Amino acid sequence: MAELPKSINNLISAFERLPGIGPKSASRLVFYLINTPESYVSEIARSLLAIKKEVKICKECFSVCEGEICSICEDSQRNKKIICVVERAIDVVAIENIGGFKGVYHVLGGVVNPLEHIGPDDLKIDELIKRVNNQFLISNDQIEVILATNPTMEGEATALYIKKKLENLQGKNLKISRIGSGLPMGADLEYADQATLSRAMDGRREI
Ligand SMILES: [Zn+2]
Repeated sequence: MAELPKSINNLISAFERLPGIGPKSASRLVFYLINTPESYVSEIARSLLAIKKEVKICKECFSVCEGEICSICEDSQRNKKIICVVERAIDVVAIENIGGFKGVYHVLGGVVNPLEHIGPDDLKIDELIKRVNNQFLISNDQIEVILATNPTMEGEATALYIKKKLENLQGKNLKISRIGSGLPMGADLEYADQATLSRAMDGRREI
C-alpha cells in the first residue's frame, strides 16, 4: 500500500480506536472528511471538544448533563420513588426513547466483571443505597427499584448483588423488580428495538 501522509495516518489510527470502527471504515471516514468543506470539519472538531468540556455527570443519577443536575432529575413531574437502575447513560436514552417511563434513573457506570477487574466498589452501588435511604427519609411511601442492567451474565450478577444490598434495608417499603423477559439473553438495552424494550419495562417482575 502506498505511503500516506502522516496526518492522514494519524487520523485513521485515532478513528480505529472508536467502538465498531475497523481499519476500512476509519480510512473511508478520513477520506470522506478530506473532501468535505472545512466548515463541516471545524463543526465536528468543536462538537468533539464540547462533549469533553461541557458534558458533566449528574450528581444525583450519574447520567450525563450540562449543569450539576440532569434535566430528568430536575423535572418535578418525574416520580422520584421509581428508580430505574441502568449500566450506562446510553441506556437512559434507550428507555427515554420508548417514552412512558415517568420515574428517574440511576446510572451504575458499568457492571461487575471480575475478568476486567471491575468490582461493586467501582460502580455507583453505594450511592444507589444512599439515594434510596434518603428518599425514605423524605417519606415512607413505597419505592420501586427497577434493575434494568443488560440480560448478560454480568448484568444478571450485578442485579442480584444490588438486590441483596437493598434487602439490607429491612422494614422499608421497598419493591425490587427486574426488567422482564423478551430481551434476548446476552442482549444490550442499547441495541434493543423500542417495542422489545417497552415490553421488557412493562413486563418487569418483582424479585
Ligand atoms: Zn440526573
